[in-house]
Amino acid sequence: AGRHLLALAQPRIDAARWNGLRVVAADASRLRVSTRSNASLSADHYAFALFLPGAELTLHASLHPADGSDMDGLLGRADAAMREVKQAGRAGFRFHTQRSQAGDADLRTRMQLDHAMRQALTQQRFRLHYQPQVDLATGTVIGAEALIRWRDPELGEVPPGRFIPVAEESGFIVAIGDWVLRQAVAQAAQWHASGMPMRMSVNVSALQFRQPGFVDGVASTLRAAGLPGRLLELELTESILIQDVEGTLSRLHALAEIGVLLAIDDFGTGYSSLGYLKRLPIGRLKIDRSFVMDLPGDTSDASIVNAIINLGRALDIQVIAEGVETEAQRQFLRQAGCHEFQGYLFAPALDVKSFEALLAPAANRRVVPLPRRRAARAQPGAAVRD
Ligand code: C2E
Ligand code: MG
Ligand code: MG
Repeated sequence: AGRHLLALAQPRIDAARWNGLRVVAADASRLRVSTRSNASLSADHYAFALFLPGAELTLHASLHPADGSDMDGLLGRADAAMREVKQAGRAGFRFHTQRSQAGDADLRTRMQLDHAMRQALTQQRFRLHYQPQVDLATGTVIGAEALIRWRDPELGEVPPGRFIPVAEESGFIVAIGDWVLRQAVAQAAQWHASGMPMRMSVNVSALQFRQPGFVDGVASTLRAAGLPGRLLELELTESILIQDVEGTLSRLHALAEIGVLLAIDDFGTGYSSLGYLKRLPIGRLKIDRSFVMDLPGDTSDASIVNAIINLGRALDIQVIAEGVETEAQRQFLRQAGCHEFQGYLFAPALDVKSFEALLAPAANRRVVPLPRRRAARAQPGAAVRD
């Protein structure tokens, strides 16, 4: 990567490895980043540098002296700006601002979190909970989404919304994702063997999906557990799908070939084009919770949800709604022709025992009460719940 940058910016640029990870360009003027006003011009140049065959780079720069006068300060500012770009959906360009400095303070916390996560994996502190997915027409549980849980002895229960982004940034998500996949597949295989076949949905991060051995890894995990591919569904986000279109397509087709089902998570929040959707071997769209939340009262959300359901029908793709909390939402979705739902209305993500109890014949259900009609969030003390 350093050599490529040098070639781009001949004759005057210095590149070096820093902390084993970074390429540092001490004089970036040849990359045409000299003033804040030509940011858009430089963005093209950056994009060029970013798409090296077989490698993906994140390029971030600090400008001396405005962003700091020592190495640590400069690198810290560059890091903060890079995090902003990533949060805004990557492949972008940001200059460091004062606001990023709040991010600086945050950096130490993120590093601590990253460290704690690595310990959590080796000390087996991660666990999976499973949220039932329900057929809207029949009320039958037809699947489960595996959602990671982590209780740290010092930090307490850390929600995935907090640690997954940190793991994505540090790359540790690959190890976590691997563990999640193996664990979820093993659980699905166990349910399958005990006569309770349950389609298992697993969330996959962009970095994990782009690992060169990803498809082979999925195939060998299935083989090792003896689980048919059709009982595994991978949930990908639109942002994963729109990067590296050709690579994505060939991966998706390879996965479809081994029978694995594919879903688009948080659908409606990204930018996938209809033409592109048609080319993907996708089996399900998951309507993002933000569109479900204000149903049925919010007319624009109602229209969006109807449009997604019609899109699914036109493309012959199943549609599931997530985050369903009220009976009115469920009614609306059923009448609109949505196929499935998941949400607190039926159950939150449950540990294995509670999940099994929920599915057991009514006679055996005395231990765990039937799910409440309203959100279970307000029951922090309930042992079987999240
Ligand atoms: P997601 O995949 O969209 O998962 C849905 C989230 O909504 C879950 O939050 C779930 O507990 C929550 N949820 C389900 N029903 C309801 C409801 O009725 N109301 C409300 N308010 N929320 C509901 P969770 O478990 O905190 O996960 C958050 C996100 O973290 C997930 O969003 C997913 O993007 C990520 N995540 C979780 N587990 C994994 C994992 O194993 N691997 C990866 N890569 N990401 C994961
Ligand atoms: Mg999901
Ligand atoms: Mg989602």
